Amino acid sequence: MKVLVCGGAGYIGSNMTALLAREGHEPIVFDNLSKGHRAAVPEAEFVQGDFGDLDFTVETLKKYDIEAVMHFAAFIEVGESVAEPLRYYENNVSKTRTLLEAMGKAGVDKFVFSSTAAVYGMPETFPITEDLVKAPINPYGETKWAVERMLHFLSESEQVRYAALRYFNACGAGSNGTRGEDHRPESHLIPLIIQAAMGKRDNIKIFGTDYPTDDGTCVRDYIHIEDLCKAHLLALKKLDAERELYYNLGNGKGYSVRQVIDTVKRVSGKDFTVVETDRRPGDPPVLTADASKAHKELGWTTDFPELEPIVESAWKFHTDNPNGYAD
Ligand code: UDP
Repeated sequence: MKVLVCGGAGYIGSNMTALLAREGHEPIVFDNLSKGHRAAVPEAEFVQGDFGDLDFTVETLKKYDIEAVMHFAAFIEVGESVAEPLRYYENNVSKTRTLLEAMGKAGVDKFVFSSTAAVYGMPETFPITEDLVKAPINPYGETKWAVERMLHFLSESEQVRYAALRYFNACGAGSNGTRGEDHRPESHLIPLIIQAAMGKRDNIKIFGTDYPTDDGTCVRDYIHIEDLCKAHLLALKKLDAERELYYNLGNGKGYSVRQVIDTVKRVSGKDFTVVETDRRPGDPPVLTADASKAHKELGWTTDFPELEPIVESAWKFHTDNPNGYAD
């Protein structure tokens, strides 16, 4: 299938592109390179462009006979979204609306959307099931939920068939440790801890030690990037028969910030300074997934259920590429 991978030069998009190619599909990477890296997708057809540009997006969809769109081109930083909500509404909602309009004009109706556990806000029961109330507590989660609602109404009026995949914490490196996280600036926990282990930063800061969790630090559900990408392929296939799909994607197991730090220390064999600081605005204490719906309905299985091999793959990427991608 010819798939437009919007944001395909980013962390998740590049791993998805590689998987699509390995599975015999034809990924066309569509990216404005504001965040992504051309070097992350050396083997794919590449179109530099912006999904907020209606005419160019329609033209690209038609030119490559695109049959489905996977959309990874969102802004993803919770803290930044709290500080700059309008940028998040513009990029994550307005431009996604334009992308969906472009798909309509080009006659493309299959859409796989990167959603997030942040749509649930601060749920009171764990693990989280898909039917829990959606009450995002930060603009990032709210913008993702706004798109899910838009997709729901578009599917009701038979203009789109979609799968919304609610990621918990995507991490690790795919393609044997060659496609990893290279956000600039970096804000994610595992790559930041690895930078501390590599001596590239003075310390790792723990954002909050007074949460209502066993060790006082936030608990997250870390899911390997390739396991995450596998679910997209299964969801895409299921869209042949279904119009509206939504799934949690996580391992169902929570690790605290302190446990993640200890795992990086173990994997790297390095010690480094850990500094306890204030909470980061917008962070819920615990997010763990009940992904049984994806297992049951998609036949999804994971190859990396434990944190340590995930961290090993990330450690390989960062030590093999100490300066990230070469661009
Ligand atoms: N975190 C931290 N120090 C950092 C970066 C993140 O303590 O330097 C915490 C953050 O507050 C959250 C968890 O690590 O509880 C995971 O954060 P990340 O930004 O990686 O992902 P998120 O859960 O926001 O999607």
